[in-house]
Amino acid sequence: MIEPVAVIGAGPFGLSTAAHLRGRGIPVRVFGDPMVSWRDHMPAGMILKSTPAASSIDAPQPGHTLADYCDAAGVRRLVTDEDLISVETFIAYGEWFQQKLLPDLERVRVVSVDRRTGGGFELKLDSGELFAARAVVVATGLSGLAHLPVELAGAAVDGPSATGPVSHSSQHHDLTRFAGKELIVVGAGQSALETAALAAEAGAQVQVVSRGRSRVAFGAPPWSQPRLRPESPFGRAWSLWALSYYPHPYRYFPAQVRHYLVRRVLGPLGAWWLRDRFQDKVRVEEVESVLGADAPDGAPVLTVRTHAGATRQLAADHVIAATGYRVDIAAMDFLGHELRTRLAVSRGAPKLGAGYVSSVPGLYFTGLPAAASYGPVMRFVCGTEFASGRLSKHLAAAHG
Ligand SMILES: Cc1cc2nc3c(=O)[nH]c(=O)nc-3n(C[C@H](O)[C@H](O)[C@H](O)COP(=O)(O)OP(=O)(O)OC[C@H]3O[C@@H](n4cnc5c(N)ncnc54)[C@H](O)[C@@H]3O)c2cc1C
Repeated sequence: MIEPVAVIGAGPFGLSTAAHLRGRGIPVRVFGDPMVSWRDHMPAGMILKSTPAASSIDAPQPGHTLADYCDAAGVRRLVTDEDLISVETFIAYGEWFQQKLLPDLERVRVVSVDRRTGGGFELKLDSGELFAARAVVVATGLSGLAHLPVELAGAAVDGPSATGPVSHSSQHHDLTRFAGKELIVVGAGQSALETAALAAEAGAQVQVVSRGRSRVAFGAPPWSQPRLRPESPFGRAWSLWALSYYPHPYRYFPAQVRHYLVRRVLGPLGAWWLRDRFQDKVRVEEVESVLGADAPDGAPVLTVRTHAGATRQLAADHVIAATGYRVDIAAMDFLGHELRTRLAVSRGAPKLGAGYVSSVPGLYFTGLPAAASYGPVMRFVCGTEFASGRLSKHLAAAHG
């Protein structure tokens, strides 16, 4: 029997990669809970920051874009930069894509991946099944990579929790639980600002605490983008255009530059349409740093240093850390110990070569874990357009 390729993950990147591999006639088994990050780890009522042109999951054959889904589902076609996409629509699109192209997806977890001595890999599923794969694609996205800054840990001794004093934004779906409560949201990115706006609309008193150079700001609406600069999925700018369409040389940049760009390009900035929902409804506290956090009597208190150098305390009923995600191979505990020690990494992220292959032949990474090698576009759904065809072509040539 021909050994399949295992694709671990059923978010946009896993679904797109698996569709491309299947399009090349390669036998594939796909594992994961389709679109779970969007369904359970982002707020209900969220609007995507990306535009319709940048929100399609790439497929090898036509007929699977977001606009195609709208036509098939009989909902309003989302096409222009002013058409806003609700998270509910995007989840339905991802599920439709999966049902059409990968109807045999397996809703189980991969609990371990180990190398076999003769080549290939052995995987164990949480159903108890053991099986052999000729190659493995890791597309586990945001899972397990939520980042809580150490200065907030003092108020989260048992780890961040939705019911404790401090949580991570990924631990919330229904923000109506904060109605009537005082809430602090730490962060200045879209996730922080939209979480704050949604909680305020649900009846919470919300304060956003932004740190350092990350000031609260909003992007320009599509009609006031500079016309003389090239269009990219993220707005009009030469830098965004190059990073979106030409990420090939990215992995040759010095490590410091690569990691900096992944963090800062398309970094903290609210979407243009969020400004009116945010201003006058959410208080903003721009501080130099959060020095520490405590939870006397179970309620969190942040100690902050202001830009003027003073020390202040901020109290609330709950703190949400909208502080993003950090790639760390050590957190991918389903990868066997021997595999993890053999992987070449750079600041916790796998170092990838041409075609998204890691230093272990046959082991590929796509999506967020590939951003340190292929740039910030890998943090977004539109990165599937660059990644999935190239990854599957490389895999087909090496293991097809
Ligand atoms: C609040 C928020 C808003 C965002 N808004 C946008 C936006 O507007 N536009 C945009 O382009 N991007 C946005 N992003 C980024 C977006 O989340 C990612 O681009 C996208 O989800 C990455 O897709 P993925 O397939 O790599 O991973 P995910 O969508 O995170 O999917 C991970 C998959 O891996 C599976 N999995 C994990 N571990 C295992 C295992 N051991 N075994 C089996 N399966 C496993 C899960 O079940 C899941 O199916 C946003 C992110 C956040 C946090």
